[in-house]
Amino acid sequence: MFPPKFRAKQIYNWIYQQHVDNFDEMANIPKTLRKELAEHFDISPLNIVNKELSSDGSIKYLFGLHDGHTVEAVLLKMKDAVYDEKGELLHHAKYTVCVSSQVGCKVGCAFCLTAKGGFVRNLTPGEIVGQVLEIKKDQEIASNRRVNIVYMGMGEPLDNLDNLAKSIRIFGNENGLSISPKRQTVSTSGISTKIEKLGKMELGVQLAISLHAVDDALRETLIPMNKAYNIASIIDAVRNFPVNTRKRVMFEYLVIKDVNDDIESAKKLIKLLQGIKAKVNLIYFNPYPGTDFKRPEPEQMKRFQDYLLRKGVLCTIRESKGLDISAACGQLREKELQRSEV
Ligand code: SAH
Ligand code: SF4
Repeated sequence: MFPPKFRAKQIYNWIYQQHVDNFDEMANIPKTLRKELAEHFDISPLNIVNKELSSDGSIKYLFGLHDGHTVEAVLLKMKDAVYDEKGELLHHAKYTVCVSSQVGCKVGCAFCLTAKGGFVRNLTPGEIVGQVLEIKKDQEIASNRRVNIVYMGMGEPLDNLDNLAKSIRIFGNENGLSISPKRQTVSTSGISTKIEKLGKMELGVQLAISLHAVDDALRETLIPMNKAYNIASIIDAVRNFPVNTRKRVMFEYLVIKDVNDDIESAKKLIKLLQGIKAKVNLIYFNPYPGTDFKRPEPEQMKRFQDYLLRKGVLCTIRESKGLDISAACGQLREKELQRSEV
């Protein structure tokens, strides 16, 4: 016989509100059910293997999974807590957690360190949600403090669509972490058919497209998958994607020195985005040993941004949060792997 439905609510409460990581501590759950749960499930499927603190307050985590693989997640402090002169709290700190969706990645982008290790496996919904839960516990962030989620860690989230959808719903559950889909952003390298699929699921999640190039020939050299899903197909999928009326689709543009940082590209980008409620986020390429790509000069970055702004396109430059802690995706894991090989 199935236990009554309210047990699920109670268990959610224990895990996500009380931060309990052992079924035995769930006092209002019958002993037999606790035992059964413990036999089949693991509340903390992740353990912290490494942690690096950046000068700007962001913290990069390397998590170990039950099969020995590792994935990264980053806690980004978007705003500090504000206190008045009497020491009373005026505003809580604002956090965003960047989560991984796979161990490795199949897409194979030329600039991405995660791609170098190939694809290993999908993360389960528990392993995706667990990253946020473990970080909240580790940082003692009050259970009722909501954080934002960006699926911008390791892996291509749309390549793991079913588990992604489950994690979006679990994050959003009001008995759990209560992170509404509006506060969750899925970043994709542009699998057009899957963008359409995600849109049809009507989850209410935000969308970010890793565009990085404005013509197909260049994009193919950076993201080989562009041969199958070209820029036009991505733009079409974005146009069909249900977007919250107050929100914009984010277009991420990784700026690589002398590759895609010219004003001609900025011009083409504006044309491409015509009629879309878009926001462009420029990202500095973060170099790592063995890559020929280079980080652009801040002046060139600014020139690119100014051009877009002058033409009325919303455009921000991503602060290089955590640059001093091997920030870009895959870089902490790579370091750890090298260390373990020594
Ligand atoms: N696979 C998804 C989400 C994870 S990648 C996607 O590609 O959108 C998350 C972001 O990390 C992407 O926007 C990607 O461009 C960026 N990234 C990868 N390698 C980087 C590097 N070396 N420097 C800076 N950003 C990088
Ligand atoms: Fe995969 Fe994203 Fe890295 Fe490309 S940038 S290899 S899609 S994780």
